[in-house]
Amino acid sequence: MSTETSLFELSRPGRQAWSLPELDVPGLDPEQVFGSAARKDNSLPELSEIDIARHFTRLSVLNHHVDKGFYPLGSCTMKYNPKVNEQAARLPGFSDIHPLLPESACQGALKLMYELGQYLKEITGLDAITLQPAAGAHGELTGIMMIRNYFEKKGENRTDVLVPDSAHGTNPASVTVSGYKSVQVKSNEKGRIDLAELKQACSENVACLMVTNPNTLGIFETESRQICDIVHSCGALVYLDGANLNAYMGIHRPGDAGFDAMHINLHKTLSTPHGGGGPGGGPVAIKAILEPFLPKPVIRMSKDEGRRTKASSGNSTLDTRHSTFRYWLDYDRPDSIGRVLAFSGHFGVFVKAYTYIRMLGSQGLRDAAECAVLNANYVRAGLEGIYDLPYKERCLHEVVFSGSNFRQYGVRTLDIAKRLLDYGIHAPTIYFPLIVAEALMIEPTETESRQSLDRFIQAMKEIAEQAKTDPEQLHEAPTQTPVRRLDEARASRQLDVNYQEPGN
Ligand SMILES: *Cc1c(COP(=O)(O)O)cnc(C)c1O
Repeated sequence: MSTETSLFELSRPGRQAWSLPELDVPGLDPEQVFGSAARKDNSLPELSEIDIARHFTRLSVLNHHVDKGFYPLGSCTMKYNPKVNEQAARLPGFSDIHPLLPESACQGALKLMYELGQYLKEITGLDAITLQPAAGAHGELTGIMMIRNYFEKKGENRTDVLVPDSAHGTNPASVTVSGYKSVQVKSNEKGRIDLAELKQACSENVACLMVTNPNTLGIFETESRQICDIVHSCGALVYLDGANLNAYMGIHRPGDAGFDAMHINLHKTLSTPHGGGGPGGGPVAIKAILEPFLPKPVIRMSKDEGRRTKASSGNSTLDTRHSTFRYWLDYDRPDSIGRVLAFSGHFGVFVKAYTYIRMLGSQGLRDAAECAVLNANYVRAGLEGIYDLPYKERCLHEVVFSGSNFRQYGVRTLDIAKRLLDYGIHAPTIYFPLIVAEALMIEPTETESRQSLDRFIQAMKEIAEQAKTDPEQLHEAPTQTPVRRLDEARASRQLDVNYQEPGN
C-alpha cells in the first residue's frame, strides 16, 4: 500500500485543466494591476482535469470513513446519516440565508427551529429549550450556568457538583469551567450509581448531580427516579448528559423521571456526520423552573388574529378568519445567562435533525433506539466468553469489553484495535471508560446490518485467536493500511506544519 503522491509531484509543465479560446482583447500585465502583490513565480501545480479528479478520488478513500466501512466507535455515534438530510440542508432557502435578515424575511427558518424545539421537548419530556449550544460539552456548560443562576437568584450559595465515576469525561470539565467543584460518586459493582453513596454525598453544598445515562459503560440507570428524588431532597437539581439519547428515544422520557435539565447531541442521535470537528448541535432542554435563565434570544411563536374575509356565492356566505403564526426572537429576558453562541446556533445541523425526525416519525425514532440497543447486545452476545466482559448487565447502545485476558500473551487492547484496521473496520474507542482496564468500547449503531455485525464479530474472533497463537503479528499491525503503526504522540510533540515542496 502506498500513499497518494502530492499534486506538486504529479505536476507536468504545460498541462492544464481548462480550454479557452485565444484572447481577442489585449492581455493584462498582472504587475500593472496588482503591483508588488502580483505573483512572480509560477509555483502552482500544472495538471489535467482527470489528473485532479483521480487524485482527489484516491485521497477520499485513503482514510476510513462511514461511507466506506463499519465504524464501531463508541460514544461518538459515527452512524450512517441519510443523504436526504444533507439535501435538505443544502436547499438554497436554508443554505443561502443571512443570519442578520429581519425576522419577517426568514419565517421559514425560525419556524423550523421553533418546531425542532417542540419535537425535542416532546422527546425529552421537558418544558423549555435552547438550541444555541454548539455541541454536547457546550450544552453541559450552558446547563450548569443556568443552574448556577437559578441558585444565585434564590440566594443559595452552593459550591459542589456531584459527578459519578462512570460519567463522560466532559462532565467534570464543564463543572470546573463553570466554577463549581467536581465531587466524584462511585458506581456499584453493576456499573450503576450507588444510591447509598449518593445519599451520603448529598448536602446543602451540592448544586446538582450530573448523570450520564446510559453511562459510559453503556448501562442504563434504571433507578433514575430514585436518583432524582434523593438529589431533590437536598434542594439540588439533576442534570442529565443526554448525548446518547439514541439509546432510549421514544421509550423513556427523562423529564418524566425527574431530570431538570439535559443536553441532546443532535450530531449523534439525530444525524449529522461529525468527528472531524465539524459543526454539531447541543440543545439544552429544561424544566420550567430554569426557563428564565435560558440563553437569549429565545425563539417564540405568536398567533396573529388575521383579517376576516367574507365570500358569498349564491345564498351562502363563507366567513373565514386567516390566522397566521409569526415566529420571532425574544431578547427581553432579564435573567438570561446571555448568549452562548453567535446568532441562533448551527442552523444546518438543525435542518438535518428536523429532517431526520420528520422522516422517521415517532415510531421510527423508537425503532432506531431499539435497533441501536439490539445491535450492541448482538455484539455483546457474539463476543462474550472470548473477550472479558467486566459488567455483565445487558447493555444499551454500546458494550464495554476488556482486552485484559490477552495480556498474558503480551497483547494489549491497542494491538487488537490496530489489527481491526487490516480488516477494513475502524477501531472502537479504547482505554475508555477509565474504570475498565484495557477497555474496548463498541457502539455498532442502529444502521448496521446483521451481516456487517457478523463480519465484525468474526474479525474479533480471528484476532483473539491470533493473540494466542501469533502475538508478534499483532504487534506489527496494521499492515494493510496506507501508513503502518504510527507513534501516537510524536505529531503533537514534534509539531511540523511547514509544507516542504518535494526536491527542496
Ligand atoms: C459525545 C459525548 C459528549 C460530548 O459531546 P460533544 O458534542 O463532543 O461536545 C458528552 N457526553 C457524552 C456521554 C458523550 O457521548
